[in-house]
Amino acid sequence: MAERFTSSSGPPSDAERPRELLRRGDAGYDEARRIWNGMIDRQPAFIARCSNVDDVAKAIAFARAKGLPISVRGGDHSAAGAAVCEGGVMIDLAPMQGLEIDPARRVARVEPGLRWKQVDEATQAHGLATTGGTVSDTGVAGLTLGGGLGWLAGRYGLTCDNLLAAEVVTADGAHLRASETENADLFWALRGGGGNFGVVTAFELQLHSVGPTIYGGMVAHPIDRAAEVLRFYRDFCASNPDEMNTACAMMTTPDGAKIIAIAACHCGSLEDGEEALRPIKQFGSPVVDQMGAMPYLALQTALDGAFPRGRRYYWKSALVTQLRDEMIERMPEQFVTAPSPHTLFLLQQIGNAANRVPADATAFAHRDARWDALVLTGWEDPSEDAQQVAWSRQVHQSWKPFCSDASYTNALSGEDSDADVRSSYGSAYRRLAEIKARYDPANVFRMNANIKPVGATAS
Ligand SMILES: Cc1cc2nc3c(=O)[nH]c(=O)nc-3n(C[C@H](O)[C@H](O)[C@H](O)COP(=O)(O)OP(=O)(O)OC[C@H]3O[C@@H](n4cnc5c(N)ncnc54)[C@H](O)[C@@H]3O)c2cc1C
Repeated sequence: MAERFTSSSGPPSDAERPRELLRRGDAGYDEARRIWNGMIDRQPAFIARCSNVDDVAKAIAFARAKGLPISVRGGDHSAAGAAVCEGGVMIDLAPMQGLEIDPARRVARVEPGLRWKQVDEATQAHGLATTGGTVSDTGVAGLTLGGGLGWLAGRYGLTCDNLLAAEVVTADGAHLRASETENADLFWALRGGGGNFGVVTAFELQLHSVGPTIYGGMVAHPIDRAAEVLRFYRDFCASNPDEMNTACAMMTTPDGAKIIAIAACHCGSLEDGEEALRPIKQFGSPVVDQMGAMPYLALQTALDGAFPRGRRYYWKSALVTQLRDEMIERMPEQFVTAPSPHTLFLLQQIGNAANRVPADATAFAHRDARWDALVLTGWEDPSEDAQQVAWSRQVHQSWKPFCSDASYTNALSGEDSDADVRSSYGSAYRRLAEIKARYDPANVFRMNANIKPVGATAS
């Protein structure tokens, strides 16, 4: 492994030097700095490949000693590109892939380099699962820390609601455990407050009996029926059972047809699932019906193909408490003008159980939001960057009167204002800022949806 120190400040001492440091030109450097969003092309001064807690602590100390900014890479799916910094130290957790499952206690201990595919496959081998992302190569770490929306959230809450404990290396190098009974303030903050408080080196997640076969999938209608489908979908979601969670998306098929799809997962019995999802199948005249009994693992990977790694992406999110008629009319009209066949409008249901958690129980405060509305655009040609970004921003702007002020923290776009970031944390922000001041007063962890420590004058 190449380790060269050309910095004018000279080589760091052994005490502060991480074991595996990559610099520009080293084998593996370009691979490690590339992330899911191909539009992000940043060059860290150092990439610290971390295999254990000691590596993480050394990487933090090294960056601080050199006065360099830090970014933290979990599963690298932040569309904003928060995993990689320009000219700083990227703490790369990809080598931390440990996974232990205790089927008796129904608990998984997950290290932060893992993605949902690995966790889902391992837990399903025991007939277990926890709420996870709907695209299987999304990282467990960032998704959990920002909330975690998924198919099981109607019954089991968000991913962060299933976090039982976390191990964290803080800015001063301390290795702490956070749970309801240990560092409880930190534990509260980690469940929705993102990567602001330190580097999480292990997550303990509550598992539940799920599948292995569930009833779910999707049905699709032509886009010219979109307003009726959306009205039906809104009414249907007013009373869907906890076992079910849903999403509704407008997209373009590979052969160029614009469609609106309703997707759902029912994690109860197959009979109950079939009955509960029947109204979706029977509504209108779907052009596609792929709803039925299927492995939970198949549902968890069904959307993977729509989000290939390395494509250029931009997205904006708005949380929705009430799906208003104006939004229902507007979305289809806008969607047909999308400048890319890879544009997606998505309404992802938050989930009944997630909605019932009190707003102050965790740092994910938006418990009254029923959906995350997302405009997500993907394209291949860099010359389209400005046009694609501008179109998405314009769409998002036009949704604002019908949505809450807040975006889902995990779906911020990276160039958000301080007010946008604050509103993404909602009523949790003040307490988060106090806890930030306790655990990271110098705002060492700021390449994220940043919470300014109380008392800080600048980031
Ligand atoms: C295709 C796609 C599908 C998605 N689907 C869903 C979905 O169904 N539900 C949902 O809720 N979200 C979804 N998301 C959003 C997802 O939650 C965020 O992109 C999340 O940030 C991904 O986490 P990551 O670890 O992969 O990302 P990274 O880019 O590695 O990290 C994201 C943020 O978390 C911080 N971070 C990462 N690891 C750690 C750690 N160990 N300790 C401290 N901070 C850390 C990073 O510094 C960064 O700020 C999706 C995203 C994509 C791209």
